[in-house]
Amino acid sequence: MEKKNVLSAKSLGIIAFVLALITSASFNVTAALIIAVFFLVLAFTEDGTDGKVTVLSALYLVLAGGLVRFVLARIFGIFFQIFQWADSYKAINVFNDISTCIGFVVTIAVALFAVVAIVNLIAGKAVKIPFVTEFAASTIGIVMPKAPKAPKAAPAAEGWTCECGKTNTGAFCANCGKPKQ
Ligand SMILES: [Zn+2]
Repeated sequence: MEKKNVLSAKSLGIIAFVLALITSASFNVTAALIIAVFFLVLAFTEDGTDGKVTVLSALYLVLAGGLVRFVLARIFGIFFQIFQWADSYKAINVFNDISTCIGFVVTIAVALFAVVAIVNLIAGKAVKIPFVTEFAASTIGIVMPKAPKAPKAAPAAEGWTCECGKTNTGAFCANCGKPKQ
């Protein structure tokens, strides 16, 4: 079953994070779309949630990098215009440096998380990216709820047994009305 191997959650997860790694320097719509397709493939073929959370984490990592870049570009764009009106080219240069520096940090962060994820996947471990994996897991939880949790054990310690034999939780016996002793 070679086809099954290619489409396995692990291999799709690894390819997804490789795409995140090679596009870490700038947001890439194609990479995001390919990873989204991977997620859909798993959504229809895999029963477990781990593989889906992994691939969705890769997608969110790519999207988060793109979002941070987009927001920073907007904020810096406003400052650039202000400094241009003010004819302050020194300030523009400083902000250019800061912008480049933050862009570099975003690239390193995305690449680093992707590399750690790839290493973990190859080693058969779960992928854990701060915030991203939690967010992916909660998204999956909305789409496909987990198996129902075991019902909570009855709070036996809180109850008391009346002389008549009835077990009660209130201050008075529900059977004979005697107060709790
Ligand atoms: Zn009673």
